[in-house]
Amino acid sequence: MSIQTSNPSSNDYSKALSLIAAHSHISGLGLDEHLQPKATSQGMVGQLQARRAAGIILKMVQNGTIAGRAVLLAGPPSTGKTALAMGLSQSLGEDVPFTAIAGSEIFSLELSKTEALTQAFRKSIGVKIKEETEMIEGEVVEIQIDKSITGGHKQGKLTIKTTDMETIYELGSKMIEGLTKEKVLAGDVISIDKASVKITKLGRSFARSRDYDAMGAETRFVQCPEGELQKRKSVVHTVSLHEIDVINSRTQGFLALFTGDTGEIRSEVRDQINTKVAEWKEEGKADIVPGVLFIDEVHMLDIECFSFINRALEDEFAPIVVMATNRGISKTRGTNYKSPHGLPLDLLDRSIIITTHNYNEQEIKTILSIRAQEEEVDVAADALDLLTKIGTETSLRYASNLIAVSQQIAQKRKSNNIEVADIKRAYLLFLDSSRSVKFLQEFEPQYID
Ligand code: ATP
Repeated sequence: MSIQTSNPSSNDYSKALSLIAAHSHISGLGLDEHLQPKATSQGMVGQLQARRAAGIILKMVQNGTIAGRAVLLAGPPSTGKTALAMGLSQSLGEDVPFTAIAGSEIFSLELSKTEALTQAFRKSIGVKIKEETEMIEGEVVEIQIDKSITGGHKQGKLTIKTTDMETIYELGSKMIEGLTKEKVLAGDVISIDKASVKITKLGRSFARSRDYDAMGAETRFVQCPEGELQKRKSVVHTVSLHEIDVINSRTQGFLALFTGDTGEIRSEVRDQINTKVAEWKEEGKADIVPGVLFIDEVHMLDIECFSFINRALEDEFAPIVVMATNRGISKTRGTNYKSPHGLPLDLLDRSIIITTHNYNEQEIKTILSIRAQEEEVDVAADALDLLTKIGTETSLRYASNLIAVSQQIAQKRKSNNIEVADIKRAYLLFLDSSRSVKFLQEFEPQYID
């Protein structure tokens, strides 16, 4: 089977989008060259111990010694577990895929649990494909119409310019208008007759204009001379294993990449793709780029999922699995026994556990001010103090959410600058979790059980 890898640069991680937007200020782990954390760097603030530990993981990944293991980030809510996972993946490099899912997403009616997990795993493996192509892109950039030639048709000069802007290839030709936007590749056949220019794309027949052959016009074929146009072009693109699966899945087709509605993919398709990708790797045509699969709220998974993960970590194409939980000793779903973080002991045993801790006031303030900058909002100094106080007393996430809400309130009075009053207003309009509990206790009888 021929495996297709080209894709319309899809990104069907839309579910994870909101998860990621909250972390758009994070661009790495903020470590120095000795992998020691700087107090504030690359959007990362504090949490030094965990960042130092993440730095060691980074080194292990780079040295290829992480295989068969997972990372577990354990800590209270809003202590930067997701931020750390993102920072790790960004420190690994630009082309490294990052997939974020929440444990509860695995349970759906459309996909079995293991299929959903398999897709998440394969989204997190990049395949960097190196293509030495003999095609040189060119673009028709100029057409000169010679008005002296008539007869209903127009004569012109076709100029093909390669994308490296160095070589211009000209064809004196007769042609019609309307070709300026077409891309021409060396190797394409350009057929020119008295009245039209037709381009036969490599393999695909492509006619831009009406078929003038019927008019008995003499047809000339001009093959773009490769050597003359330009050297070979080496193209590298990275796609995920999942994208290759979808494109080659006969039942789905690549459009599923846009809708995310990929359905179950047959295991034979995946086996063939694995074999092919392994071959490419062997032949030096492709590199495997293990990305990061982040599973938030991992305690929401059940025992079957955990055993799947245990096995998948052994796979030759395994991503770096980073799990996060804010649970203490709790029941493992699908069983009757309790374990640390709700994870079965065999998976815990394979995990490198990093703990995160609550932030102090200064750290909360710094994170909130970085978030405000990221959201392009100006917060007055006393308003930031109030926001920080709210952050320490409720949660960092709640305070962070108040930034956007307060901005809306400020804009109502035509200001871009958040003042104390805007924060107060936002605080009254939107409950944090503990006030929400209080509210419910007070008005419980009015709610349906
Ligand atoms: P939960 O257990 O609720 O999923 P979490 O531990 O994953 O929480 P995050 O979502 O990473 O917490 O943190 C909440 C917000 O604070 C995010 O916007 C995150 O980017 C930001 N944040 C957390 N820790 C840091 C940090 N050390 N430096 C910069 N920003 C941080």
